[in-house]
Amino acid sequence: MTKRRLAIIITFAALLLLIAAGLFILRWTPCGTPVLAYHAVEDVPFTESEHLFVTPRELEDQIIWLKRAGYSFAFADDPAAFTKEKQVVITFDDGYKDNLTEALPILQKHGACATVFVVTKNVGKNDNFLTEEDVKALKDSGLVHIGSHTDGHYLLTGLSDEDKEKQLSLSKKRLEEMTGEPVTAMSYPGGYTDDMTRRIALSHYDLCYTYPDTNWLVGKNYDPGAVNRITVSRGTSGLKLILMLKKARPLS
Ligand SMILES: [Zn+2]
Repeated sequence: MTKRRLAIIITFAALLLLIAAGLFILRWTPCGTPVLAYHAVEDVPFTESEHLFVTPRELEDQIIWLKRAGYSFAFADDPAAFTKEKQVVITFDDGYKDNLTEALPILQKHGACATVFVVTKNVGKNDNFLTEEDVKALKDSGLVHIGSHTDGHYLLTGLSDEDKEKQLSLSKKRLEEMTGEPVTAMSYPGGYTDDMTRRIALSHYDLCYTYPDTNWLVGKNYDPGAVNRITVSRGTSGLKLILMLKKARPLS
């Protein structure tokens, strides 16, 4: 064998090894389920909270990379999301119109699914929010489950127990009327909860999501009254999201 041929074989073997190592690193993830928290999906933000707006291109890139990394998509109202291996849960808070016009086509294109937590008082409020028909259309797509983000988006910890009860029960009732389906998951406005809020929320819902202050994954012994999520902000590429998930750890 000539030296040149040997060099080619060694280079080829090294390349193959590199590709295999890359694939292994891409598909390896820590135990636990990431629950991703999104809001609006728009190229041009319509509020000053720009970080809450991912672009449609970013969302698509993230979904493509999640699939490359070997994740399957699960709904936020399905407890199996936290017991099966390699699941990811996509959630959207507030009930923006673009969840239907921008996010749904991306979910359809890539066979992904998501859960939209709707503020019932905002339904049909203006062009930025979903209407009742939109909520139903999302549910009818089969790729979106509807959850509650309370009736008026007040921070629940600052309300009386009676008002907490109203916020949580009224939105559930209205969403169930809109969709014709049981609504069993909710997310706390601003992520704020405490013992009493948690107790009242759990009397109406099976799974209650906080808004994250850190990147925790959901482990098998999770607390259904305070399930952690990971914020996905504007400017996050698909690869950056995967690297974030590799660094995240299960809370319980
Ligand atoms: Zn919110």
